[in-house]
Amino acid sequence: MDIHLLDAEPTTGEREAVDHVLGPPASSWDGGVRDAAVDTRVARGGHAMRARRDLLLPALWALQERIGWISPAALGYVCTRLDVPPADAYGVATFYALLATEPQPPRVIHVCEDVACRCLGSDDLIATLEERFGSEGELSADGSATWLRSPCLGQCDRAPATMVSLAGEAHAEHVVAPATAAQVIAALGGEDVAGWDPVTPLPQHGDRALVLLRRVGQVEPTSLSDYRASGGYRALRHALDVGPEGVLRELKLSKLQGRGGAAFPTSTKWEAVARQPARPHYIVCNADESEPGTFKDRVILEGDPYALIEAMTVAAVTTGCERGFIYLRGEYPQAQRTLEACIATARAAGLLGPDVMGSGLPFELELRKGAGAYICGEETAIFNSIEGFRGEPRSKPPFPVVAGLFGKPTIVNNVETLVNVLHVLEADGEGYAAIGTEVSTGSKLFCMSGNVVRPGVYEVPFGATLREVIELGGGIANGRTLQAVLLGGAAGGFVGPADLDLPLTFEGARAAGTTLGSGVILVLDDTVDLPAILRRIAAFFRDESCGQCVPCRVGTVRQEELIARLAAGRPHGSVDEELALYDELAQCMRDASICGLGQAAANAIQSAIVRLGTFRGGVSA
Ligand code: SF4
Repeated sequence: MDIHLLDAEPTTGEREAVDHVLGPPASSWDGGVRDAAVDTRVARGGHAMRARRDLLLPALWALQERIGWISPAALGYVCTRLDVPPADAYGVATFYALLATEPQPPRVIHVCEDVACRCLGSDDLIATLEERFGSEGELSADGSATWLRSPCLGQCDRAPATMVSLAGEAHAEHVVAPATAAQVIAALGGEDVAGWDPVTPLPQHGDRALVLLRRVGQVEPTSLSDYRASGGYRALRHALDVGPEGVLRELKLSKLQGRGGAAFPTSTKWEAVARQPARPHYIVCNADESEPGTFKDRVILEGDPYALIEAMTVAAVTTGCERGFIYLRGEYPQAQRTLEACIATARAAGLLGPDVMGSGLPFELELRKGAGAYICGEETAIFNSIEGFRGEPRSKPPFPVVAGLFGKPTIVNNVETLVNVLHVLEADGEGYAAIGTEVSTGSKLFCMSGNVVRPGVYEVPFGATLREVIELGGGIANGRTLQAVLLGGAAGGFVGPADLDLPLTFEGARAAGTTLGSGVILVLDDTVDLPAILRRIAAFFRDESCGQCVPCRVGTVRQEELIARLAAGRPHGSVDEELALYDELAQCMRDASICGLGQAAANAIQSAIVRLGTFRGGVSA
């Protein structure tokens, strides 16, 4: 360790929180009481301690949950236990929005101010809180609570959304959505919110054509027997019977493409890892869907969690992964509770562990909780986050299939992609490819939110048009007319009423100069202040840039400033000059940023300017 620790001593509670994750210290080398007899016998050197660095984020989470914030003394204790320099650990703790390094009361209400919630009243909710309690971060009268603005909480079908974090021995997080001002005020006043977590029925509930969502709402999510009775674990049995080559063959025939936004062929990724001689291999499920407007994976995680566990096990036995991680976004407490219970049950039933389903193949699965960083949805940022570093993307190559988590070959797939694999094995590759179009096979989940009659996750075969999906959701709410649709999330693009016959396929979106992205369909009616939405998107990217590379770190700030000027009607020079400058800025971010965040940070705003004429006297200028 190269920096001296602060002198402050952690409290008993802080020690207990950390020890709960790391186990008790073995000697004074890693934070125990000095005892010459023990210290000379237990040579806990730096190498062994640093080998556990991947427990840094779980240890920080333990402090956050137990104490409500991470004090310098507590951070120092974690550093001693893991042999991490304090400045390094501080850099990690301050990277994540859900971790506090300044004193924070035990009760915190996170209030979403993102695009979907704005369409459904979060501005009014925030104005009420400001009037009643003061600005975000102000303490309640008794000092036990505060509220904070939050980027998208992934509850867009239940907007406006809030999440209540309760620190202490019986720590918990609860979602309150849709939230009324009265509920948030009551929560800030100390009311028990334990029973308030929402249960939202699937809009297509009972539709027999559903494939990916067929169990959601139909079975008890944590019941393994329900899951098996509905066909669960047949795909894994089949995978073990046909072996890795058989699974890879079916995947190739299915033409399954990743559903996280990049549409990369899944069979290519799996095959690349399976063929790597380096060992061990890892699989990481990207369950950090933080793209504003995205919540489809949450619906599967909460409603059909064994499907994900089974699919990851299929991937593991096919590609030789002995260990897997589900990287879950920190704002999904219901999914966390459900997944933890199901992983334990699957392990007890021999479906995870040293001998999966009696095959002799091992597969251990762990849940790792993100802590409020959008960039951790980027695959290499997840690796850094799991390994205990700031969640900053890595330069590629090397690609994850060669050198991913802990420098080893790694599969990264998102939840929807993995769950599709089960249906590839059930229908066989050709049967699966018969659904959808020639290029975009299978069915797709879309997250519909905003000014639509029935927001929620919808499953349709690839090829349905945007109009058909919006009609499935009951059309535009309150008899209003459509102004625009944000397709694919904040990194996606806006389309207008003239684009409603766009076929929702990878190739269709590409041909139309847009993207399906993460499957967001955010519907904006004619009452929405579009320039204000663009400002929010610009603020989001400025806030979420990891700051690692200049084009993105500076570019997203300049983008926000420029859009704020235009939205306020105060351009520097003429609007055309500002827009020309904006084009240059967007091109610079696109060309020179390391990762997709910077490369896509201008996409949605530019699409509004080009397609909808925003700021040019078009739809809403
Ligand atoms: Fe970080 Fe932005 Fe660079 Fe990505 S593009 S590495 S988010 S600074």
